Amino acid sequence: MFLNIQSTKTLTNGIEMPRFGLGVYKMTERDETLQAIDKALKVGYRAIDTASLYGNEVEVGEAIRYSGIKREDIFVTTKVWNTDQGYDATLRAFEVSLKNLNMDYLDLYLTHWAVPETFEETYRAIERLYDEKLIRATGVSNHHEHHLQKLLSKANIAPMVNQVELHPYLQQEALKAFCAEHEIAVTAWSPLGRGGVLDNPTILEIAQELGKSAAQVVLRWHLQKDTLIIPKSVTPSRIEENAQIYDFELTQAQMDQMTTLNRNHRFGQDPDNFKFNF
Ligand code: NAD
Repeated sequence: MFLNIQSTKTLTNGIEMPRFGLGVYKMTERDETLQAIDKALKVGYRAIDTASLYGNEVEVGEAIRYSGIKREDIFVTTKVWNTDQGYDATLRAFEVSLKNLNMDYLDLYLTHWAVPETFEETYRAIERLYDEKLIRATGVSNHHEHHLQKLLSKANIAPMVNQVELHPYLQQEALKAFCAEHEIAVTAWSPLGRGGVLDNPTILEIAQELGKSAAQVVLRWHLQKDTLIIPKSVTPSRIEENAQIYDFELTQAQMDQMTTLNRNHRFGQDPDNFKFNF
């Protein structure tokens, strides 16, 4: 599969979504955030993944405008937080996000977590935003198969993306197969396991064989598995390093070795046991 930093995955409605982008969770310092996004866009990143929870939508919008890159050439995702869910509340939360970003449309809007009482209504609001052409694609995050099944049974527009925790220690094969069957693109959050998989001896061995870093091996593995990725870093050298994954490939034997690393280990929370009341 030939890939470069601009490679996209075609969503069910024909929209091209970059396979690679910058995650900006925990970027809370204004200057650090502006600099990280500026660096990423200079290196060639064309997607930014934020959320109202992250408190940096204003900086994301500013950094994109400052870059001089055309708005339509950058894919912007944000998410509706748990306490803002439900039909009307989601529509209101979207207005706030759009205002914070200072944009007139978003590329992708996601339900952040499947709040049991409200996630179906939340997705109905996302469908309305799509109908009104305020977002170019619909999606969800942290949805298990049973959540998706509920949405699919009612939705007029099936979710186009599901963003879930996914890395070598949590490979999510069953969920990925379900999503593939329903043409839902899968984005990995914490694609590096928040850095927690980078000292794995097998990954380090493959990295040595390829003359690449452990982070590069993991990110390339995701791409070869047809998973979209949004690694986060504020360190300029790492932002660059994470994008240098297009001049090598893992062999089938190395891909098979990576498969053996799954241990169903979550660094974040399980969507079914999320503490929604904090
Ligand atoms: P990640 O797997 O991207 O890991 C980020 C951490 O790994 C960095 O803080 C740094 O410590 C380390 N790192 C990054 N590049 C490195 C390199 N080249 N070498 C060594 N260490 C490196 O974890 P993440 O930030 O949790 O996830 C990425 C993005 O996913 C977030 O920024 C956010 O946009 C999204 N996310 C979404 C959800 C959700 O609920 N939808 C949850 C968590 C994260």
